[in-house]
Amino acid sequence: MPLEKTAAIVLKSFHYGDTSKIARCYTRDFGKLSIIAKGVLTSKTLQSGYLEPMNCIALSFYHNPKRQLQIFSKAEFDRPMLSLKNDMKKLSYGFAVVELVDRTVTGEERHAELFHLTEEILDTIDRSGGHLNRIFWYFEIALLSLLGFRPHLSECPHCQKEMTSAFFSLGYGELVCGDCISGSGRSVSPEALTVLRKLTRSDLDSLSEIACGAKERKEVGNFLAEYISFHVEGLREVRSLRVMESVLA
Ligand SMILES: [Zn+2]
Repeated sequence: MPLEKTAAIVLKSFHYGDTSKIARCYTRDFGKLSIIAKGVLTSKTLQSGYLEPMNCIALSFYHNPKRQLQIFSKAEFDRPMLSLKNDMKKLSYGFAVVELVDRTVTGEERHAELFHLTEEILDTIDRSGGHLNRIFWYFEIALLSLLGFRPHLSECPHCQKEMTSAFFSLGYGELVCGDCISGSGRSVSPEALTVLRKLTRSDLDSLSEIACGAKERKEVGNFLAEYISFHVEGLREVRSLRVMESVLA
């Protein structure tokens, strides 16, 4: 089995027996992999700490494409993410990011852009002084775009007219104008639509410049959550965010 080395983001990990650990990792070069680290919990090398969710690591492992579990060799930190790990709110958003990646990415298909985006978002959350919701929305929109589900935010996809306000159609799974909505749909106000458009044009370091009141915050968050669960199979909600909302309530 060849020893491989790749940049990786730990999505999830759990103890296996008394001495080992299994981690699900999103890697730059091999897509999603499950890795078993045998004996790591009793080893004096402290390698176990690298296999915790949200860690961005340089991972060495023995690769056998025919096996479901790859064998861990060693790891070291690419970025330590100290602020993210010590802040309850950042931690919840970080968990939501890796949970979304875990539930949208399937199999060992590499996707360099998505890997880079995830790494960049975790790093931005780590460095951020606030505006975590905007960073997370930016991530949701960028993730949707990479998966081919970027929402239409300007023209109504049915009549091509410019949308001033919009409705999220639960039948079509997209935003449509007031003339084209039929059946049930959640309304998205002109202000919330403006925030969404700005999010698609902004870069990560300028997100704090996007003004957003409490009402729009709720609308934008709800719309993106519903839009994602419509388009990503099996994703009803991002559990980590629900946990965070109940903690902060
Ligand atoms: Zn229309």
